[in-house]
Amino acid sequence: MKILSQILQFARPFRRYWPKYLFFILFGIIFSLSNVTLVAPLFDFIFQTDSVTRVTELPAFDIGHLDAYLKAFYNYHVSRLNDAYGMLRTLLIIAVAIVIASFLSNFFKYVAQRVLVRLRADVMRNMRGALFRKITQLHIGYFNVAQKGNILSIVSNDVNEIQNTIINSFQVVFREPLMILFYVATLFIYSFRLTLFTLVMLPIAGFLVSKLIRKLKKYANRTQSILGQIIVAFEETISGIRIVKAFNAQQQVTDSFDRQNHAYRNALKQMFNRQAMASPLSEFLGVSIVALIVLYAGYLTLNDVSPLSVGTFVTYFALYYFLLNSAKSLANEIGNINRGLASASRLLSILNEPNAIEDPANPKDLTFEHAIRYEDVSFSYQQEPVLKHVSLTIPKGATVALVGHSGAGKSTMADLLPRFYDVTGGRITIDGTDIRDCRLADLTALMGIVTQEAVLFNDTVRANIAFGSPDASDEDIRRAAVIANADEFISQMEQGYDTCIGDRGGRLSGGQRQRLAIARAVLKNPPILILDEATSALDTESERLVQEALTSLMKDRTSVVIAHRLSTIVHADLICVMDDGRIVEQGTHEQLMALNGAYAHLYNLQALK
Ligand code: ADP
Repeated sequence: MKILSQILQFARPFRRYWPKYLFFILFGIIFSLSNVTLVAPLFDFIFQTDSVTRVTELPAFDIGHLDAYLKAFYNYHVSRLNDAYGMLRTLLIIAVAIVIASFLSNFFKYVAQRVLVRLRADVMRNMRGALFRKITQLHIGYFNVAQKGNILSIVSNDVNEIQNTIINSFQVVFREPLMILFYVATLFIYSFRLTLFTLVMLPIAGFLVSKLIRKLKKYANRTQSILGQIIVAFEETISGIRIVKAFNAQQQVTDSFDRQNHAYRNALKQMFNRQAMASPLSEFLGVSIVALIVLYAGYLTLNDVSPLSVGTFVTYFALYYFLLNSAKSLANEIGNINRGLASASRLLSILNEPNAIEDPANPKDLTFEHAIRYEDVSFSYQQEPVLKHVSLTIPKGATVALVGHSGAGKSTMADLLPRFYDVTGGRITIDGTDIRDCRLADLTALMGIVTQEAVLFNDTVRANIAFGSPDASDEDIRRAAVIANADEFISQMEQGYDTCIGDRGGRLSGGQRQRLAIARAVLKNPPILILDEATSALDTESERLVQEALTSLMKDRTSVVIAHRLSTIVHADLICVMDDGRIVEQGTHEQLMALNGAYAHLYNLQALK
């Protein structure tokens, strides 16, 4: 129920829909009821049964005997029509009334439906929007590798599933209870005793159906989670297809996929088998119930306890048939909703995930005039500590290089600065202010980041450089590209700055992608730069171009540089050698070489190569 109400929140404010809907659907129901109730009494007239007496005087209204009154009211008017025009004409008039009522009933139902269509469309839009917004806000730690496939599966499958089940069921779930209410009320008017009897039968059928539905839900849950794994398998294989081929691992991945695929097939089979049972079972139950009721109605009539005329009998069962249909589709849709709930709860698991990194209630102003300080910083992703009591001062304007074996914790050090993660011990300050005490937007405004893999979007060169600086003029963009050594190759492209660079910049070389990323950082013009292995993935020639670009970028800025190739950082103001989450040596290149420790060892090793 909580899940459902949270999904319904996406339809807020409800008053946009429900008054209109209620208005239209009430008319729809009333006209459709008058349809049924107009048809059946005709039988009494046509077949001239005993119970039809000509009524020449309109009886006084009596709420206590509503059924008798309504019947007499109807008969009175039909008698009058009959007297005036004869039976055949009367029939014609009633037939026309039926056609009009049917038209109006369907017209109003259609208009009511349109209100719900809007509701559905709104809910889907709001849900996708909320999901996207949430994903942009979630902390980085949420997006580890395992999670990515899961998120994609939720965004594509589960959202669709919710649309096909919960949202789809709106039209039935809002309408049918009203219809049922009206049907039952009308049935009571026709025969109180009979209806009381039939209402006892309904819960028994309802109980059986709901048991079936519960079973279905269990299987739906299982199929969705297996489907998630299948999507992940596809995703991984597509993005890693080169490696799969290079390692000749087609058979291996196919085998493991086949196992999941087979499990999914089994789960689907079981689910569909149960679903297939729902319809025959409910039809069987329906017929059994009707048989019982016919029996009881016959008993009442034959024993003259509460006799029904032919017309009433036919109307009663017509109405009853509609009532059962309504109840059946309601039960069906409740089953569908249950199927969708599993998806909805997966969707909500994203939306309800707390943003681990939030702005403080009373943020402090952030200035950067003096220094960034890591003060006794510790950090762990899970249990294992990755940084252990690290302290480091980065004076404004300095270039600090982090070097060391892979896995030593360099990237983690850098990621803590823009608060991709928060420290688990100690603190990081800028001019003495803990970075957790200021606004996240103020903090990130200070920083530009260039990583090993340039992150580019499927858009034009211009849009990629101006990413994050939407107000930049064309001249600004070009100037940034010149500084980043990118203007030349951009100008040679077919459409220059308007060239589309393809998915993740697929149409560019690694060095070109990197220079675009640098141009983006130049344009943002941040006082602090984080360069995480920005040249590591490049060949020597592009590295030279990119390194030149980086050198111009770093001029007059404070930089944290993570470098694999030590030749690129020999001029840094401070070099920190990291090992196993600690800074084991720090100083300038000359000092560290003189120390003849870990750094000198690493440096000589690379120089040898
Ligand atoms: P470096 O940049 O020096 O290669 P990292 O900072 O990337 O080192 O990683 C330090 C340690 O933290 C490694 O042992 C790595 O396995 C671990 N690590 C890095 N990122 C994550 C993550 N998202 N979740 C769990 N562990 C991580």
